[in-house]
Amino acid sequence: MNLEGKTCGMCLKGKLHKIQDEADPGIFVEAYQCDACREIEYTEAIMRKVEAMRRHDAHLRSLIKVGSSLALSIPKEIVDKLHLKPKEKVYVTSKGNQIIAHVGKA
Ligand SMILES: [Zn+2]
Repeated sequence: MNLEGKTCGMCLKGKLHKIQDEADPGIFVEAYQCDACREIEYTEAIMRKVEAMRRHDAHLRSLIKVGSSLALSIPKEIVDKLHLKPKEKVYVTSKGNQIIAHVGKA
């Protein structure tokens, strides 16, 4: 699918132009950037490739029921990398089908 010259789906004003975007550190993919709002859009095929790469690099975890919420255990590698401690505050949000956790400090 080629989005070159198509109207931007975010601002509905600008036109999309092909760029090389660093989707993840060191991973450059073909993307399209709006010349008005500068938002970056990916084709569905590229989006699927990026998601597959992220899953490949991810740890599989099962959710645990805690009261009316669900809890997620954080792999030791991430605990060590981010120097996480029990009872540390984490802000949790979602974006699309992703869960994003921001560590309280920094
Ligand atoms: Zn736009």
